[in-house]
Amino acid sequence: MNVQSKEKEMLAFLERLVNIDSGSNNKAGVNEVGKELIPYFEKIGYEITKVKQDEAGDHLIIKHPAQKKASILIVAHMDTVFEEGTAKERPFSIREGRAYGPGVIDMKASLVSVIYALRYLKEINSNAYQDVQVILNSDEEVGSLTSRPIIEKEAYEKSYALIMEPARRDGSVVTERRGSGRFTIEVHGKAAHSGIEPEKGRSAIEELAHKILKLHELNDHEHGISVNVGIIEGGDAVNTVSAMAIGHLDVRVATLKQAEEVEHKIEEVCASSDVTGTEIELTGDMRRPPMLKNKKNEKLFHIVKKVGAELGIEIKDTKTGGGSDASFTSAMGIPTIDGLGPIGGNAHSDKEYLEISSLTERTLLLAKVIERLAEENNKVQQT
Ligand SMILES: [Zn+2]
Repeated sequence: MNVQSKEKEMLAFLERLVNIDSGSNNKAGVNEVGKELIPYFEKIGYEITKVKQDEAGDHLIIKHPAQKKASILIVAHMDTVFEEGTAKERPFSIREGRAYGPGVIDMKASLVSVIYALRYLKEINSNAYQDVQVILNSDEEVGSLTSRPIIEKEAYEKSYALIMEPARRDGSVVTERRGSGRFTIEVHGKAAHSGIEPEKGRSAIEELAHKILKLHELNDHEHGISVNVGIIEGGDAVNTVSAMAIGHLDVRVATLKQAEEVEHKIEEVCASSDVTGTEIELTGDMRRPPMLKNKKNEKLFHIVKKVGAELGIEIKDTKTGGGSDASFTSAMGIPTIDGLGPIGGNAHSDKEYLEISSLTERTLLLAKVIERLAEENNKVQQT
């Protein structure tokens, strides 16, 4: 099989996937994406375990029975950030070498790529594909709360983790990500008429304002710490002292130490009130640890770079502030690389696109990387 000759077929498959709305909260939609994918895996001998979810789509664990202990873990997600109806509003389309549509690059093109890479390996009679285990999760875009323990359990004792987030615009793969956290600050005050008896009120909005200023002082962009209250809610009427105010906080950090320190400082800020008589309830935590460019990850990157060079592709790496499931496997000490999906940009927006020429290119790269890693693994086992 020649991967390049499959482009049309792959795009038709991608079109079907993009035209299924599969927002993280769209259980039926995510399951429908799974239903499209499963037969492709089964056809090349994989066995699929569905991990049922109550509110979200099922996670899929995909293993080849010929290999009891696969050494390579591939993680990709089936959910998108888009509401139901988006696919109808702006379905899959192609213009000037780029494909558009909800989730086209984040990460439906990657799902197609994984399947065709494994198919390719089987067709060239490489057993490397059997050495792969795939996890397709349904909640990556909302922090992988229920899939995290599955990823961590399955990653245990794997030699490599390949995370299928898209390659960056310039084709770079990702070797470093900041860690991230989400917190909610709920302030309870006491309502009172601000004209008649303001002294009886305790303003939750005023209290939250103090907290926002203190939290934003934790910013240290130079060292990779960002703290942002991005949404506030609260108040009932303009002439009422507010009884309730809520702030939603996003936190990014570059190191594990920063994650601990910042979390501690947030707790400290919220431990006491500035406006007497108000109460603060802090929930949330640091969800994803940072993905660090450690020796193990760097070594894996160099393998990918070398395989790329053999295919005539120069592979560069980059860091990004966004989180992904790479953080989990990397924090476990599993050599991890991210951004192995096709090339594109503008993820999470209506301008999201896939660079079509990269679809087959990166699929072949992925296949060859798998082949090389399986060889590396055999070498290790023999020595
Ligand atoms: Zn993604």
